[in-house]
Amino acid sequence: MKIEKIETFQVQWSPKDTPGQRSAFVRIHTDDGLHGIGEVSPMQGGLASLLMIVHNIAPALIGADPLDHAVLQDRLIHKLVKLGPEGALTGALAGIDIALWDLKGKAFGQPVYKLLGGAWKTALPFYASIGGNGRGRSLDEVLRIVEARMADQPAAIKIRFDNDRTDLDTEIPDHIEKARAVRKLVGDRFPLAFDANNGYSASGAIRVGRVLEELDYWWFEEPVQHYHIRGTGEVARKLSITVSAGEQTYTMGGLVELIEAGVRMIQPDIVKMGGITGLLRCAALAQAHGVELVSHQTQPMVGHLANLHVCAAQMHATKPCEWNDPSARTHDIFDDPPMPVDGLFHLNSRPGLGIDFDENALAKRRIDITG
Ligand code: CA
Repeated sequence: MKIEKIETFQVQWSPKDTPGQRSAFVRIHTDDGLHGIGEVSPMQGGLASLLMIVHNIAPALIGADPLDHAVLQDRLIHKLVKLGPEGALTGALAGIDIALWDLKGKAFGQPVYKLLGGAWKTALPFYASIGGNGRGRSLDEVLRIVEARMADQPAAIKIRFDNDRTDLDTEIPDHIEKARAVRKLVGDRFPLAFDANNGYSASGAIRVGRVLEELDYWWFEEPVQHYHIRGTGEVARKLSITVSAGEQTYTMGGLVELIEAGVRMIQPDIVKMGGITGLLRCAALAQAHGVELVSHQTQPMVGHLANLHVCAAQMHATKPCEWNDPSARTHDIFDDPPMPVDGLFHLNSRPGLGIDFDENALAKRRIDITG
């Protein structure tokens, strides 16, 4: 079996979308007629990653054995490291890796989670991840949105504040007011998480964290700028609430630095770093250090499913999987999109990731990236 062709394309979900709002996919075909699909981190439409695939990665993959996916990834990240090992390149290689795992599942007639050693469970709880709760949204609007998401029966809710990272701490009173109101709305026992999206100084974060402790929030995510690893660690060490970070970390070494600084919950993202192969390595790293792995994942379909397959195969899945704000787009181009039933995502037993494109629907939204 050899890799014969690699398609790279964006999907424009709505004609109103800007180029930066597109999703980015890769589809890899073999000489014996199989294909696998992968998703690339969609930052700015994933264009930079897709162009790297077209110009730098695909030429090295044509003719290769797709079952060599880990060797291929490690070879390419070392060969191309000066393109920037953090961000566009790791996102590109993540998308390739996910597609090759999907392909491997189809080649062996098994779902990915079986190839990972089996699932501890195939019905996975999720937490509703709700973005945009900062200054641009009133307290009443926040509460209405949280109420609406409760209808999906999430195991927990995370409110994100999507801060302007150039303007730290100014929204703290507004955030605290909203955190208190959401706690009151959902009741004392319902699990809640708070994502500062890097909006605070270390001292600002400690001030907010103490309130979150009083309100019994479950975790406090990305309290300070992602590049202030010592600051993140300082916040983690000074608070008793679990402080998490890592969705903007693209290397194993970067995660080790977070852990050594004091972070007890790491959140690498399967479409940004390493794909399925990479997230498995992160899981081993977390297990070895005794910290929680609660992967970040906000892409609704392919990235989400790849993440669920890895989470299903983990013994210590201490928290539910992320599910981002839903939109109609999640149904549009796939034949059998994953949707929760009674608060659980059910992995099917189809080979690979268990999802494929609806070709007619895809054709209407697809924008090929060829160079
Ligand atoms: Ca976050």
